[in-house]
Order: sequence, then structure tokens, then C-alpha cells
Amino acid sequence: MMQARVSFHRKLKVFLTHLHGDHVLGLPGVLQTMALMDRKEPVQVYGPPGIKDFLVCTKETLNFGLTFPVEIYEIMGEGTLVDEEEYRLTAVKSDHAVKSYAYAFVEKPRAGKFYPKKAQALGVQLGELWSKLQSGQEITLSDGRVVKSSDVMGPPRAGRKIVYTGDTRPFDGFADFAADADLLIHESTFDDSLAEKAELDGHSTPSQAASEAKAARVKQLVLTHVSARYPDASLLLEQAKKVFANTLVAEDFMELRLPLKEN
Ligand SMILES: [Zn+2]
Ligand SMILES: [Zn+2]
Repeated sequence: MMQARVSFHRKLKVFLTHLHGDHVLGLPGVLQTMALMDRKEPVQVYGPPGIKDFLVCTKETLNFGLTFPVEIYEIMGEGTLVDEEEYRLTAVKSDHAVKSYAYAFVEKPRAGKFYPKKAQALGVQLGELWSKLQSGQEITLSDGRVVKSSDVMGPPRAGRKIVYTGDTRPFDGFADFAADADLLIHESTFDDSLAEKAELDGHSTPSQAASEAKAARVKQLVLTHVSARYPDASLLLEQAKKVFANTLVAEDFMELRLPLKEN
């Protein structure tokens, strides 16, 4: 976060996919650093049952105090975990060696495009009435005519969708969960030649991840969680690209821009 220049005070919700060390052991350090920076804003942590014990236990055994509240939510089932004005976050059970979840971040639709010329043609004066129409309200003009928002605005524009698998074997229903995502971040621990080991350990191969991306008609696939046995990920990238061309391998500090949608 320091290197990426992400503030320790910004609004933060943490979603943990499962209780394996490589996915949770970083969190106590992050929370402790935030306390050193005198954070006051609460942090919400979501994860499978056990996450509360884990955080309480580390906090007690390491004997560190926090300067802000940590709200812990143990996920009991699939569905919407967070429903904010601008987005919602949903979870689906994935298929790993322990209880695990995959997550989808889905932006709510944006208002349609505003056409000033249409408003002018209908005799709506620039100013407060425009803002009312832009926020979806209906207005009545001085001559009694009613102008609806849809008279001067295009249809709502879809939000963006990002799906993150965590560690998982391919599982039924995932393609529906990830349908039409702008970005799918999928684990790809072992290359295709180790498909049996992947199945045994609860992981996926590049061609399995790519098949899910294809079935879900996502726009961009990013492979992650590549085993340390590979000095570089070119073999995995090659295997995935045979099935789904628009694939990248995640790197630290990688930035991808997902443009707003315009219908
Ligand atoms: Zn794991
Ligand atoms: Zn892992």
C-alpha cells in the first residue's frame, strides 16, 4: 500500500476468500500498520467462519491495540454481502480444500446520457430543472406540461463488473456468476500438465481458467496465484491464450483501466 501510494485512511472493506495462510496472514500486519498511522475510520472484514477467531487471537497474542473499529462479518451463505449506493458485492461458494468463496463486485447502472438539446426543444430552462431531470425526477413546466427524465435522457448505462475467484477448482455455476464480467481475476496455480495435482489440491490450470472466461463471456482474464515452481508465467499464459486470447498474468502493482460503459 505504501509503494502503491494507497492511503491507510481510505474507506476499506476486506474480502477474504478462505482461511489459508497465503490469503490471511498479511491482514494483521496491515491493520497494525493502520493503527500506527492513527487510522480512525472503521474497516470491514468479510470471510468464511473462523475469520473472527483468527483476528481476535492474533490481536491478543501479539498484544496490539487498534485505533479504529474492525467489523468482522463471517459469511454464512451465498448472495449479496454489501449493497451500497454505487455497487454491490456478492459471494458464491467455490471449490477448494477448505470452505471458500469467490466474489463479484458489480457497479450499479449509471444514469443515461443527458441531451441538452432535447431539454431546450421542450422549453426547459437551463438550471435547477435540468438537474432534477438528470437525477431522474419528473418536472412540471409553468404551462402545465410534464417532462419526464426519459424525455431528455438516454437509457441507463450498465456498471462494470469484476470477479475474483480465490483458490478453487472449476465448479458448476461459476460461469453464470461471472457472466459478462469486464474483468475476471482467476487463480491458475499449476500448468495444464499438472491438472491431476490441481484437482487434488483444489486449484485450477490455465486452460480451465480460460474455459471459464470463455463460457462467462468476460472481456479480460487475468491469471493469478501462480505456483512458485514457475520462474516465469509464460508457459501458463501460453496455455490460457489457446482457449481465451484476452489473457494477462497478474503482476504486483499492475494497473488495468476499465472504461465506463456507454451502451
Ligand atoms: Zn488455499
Ligand atoms: Zn492460496
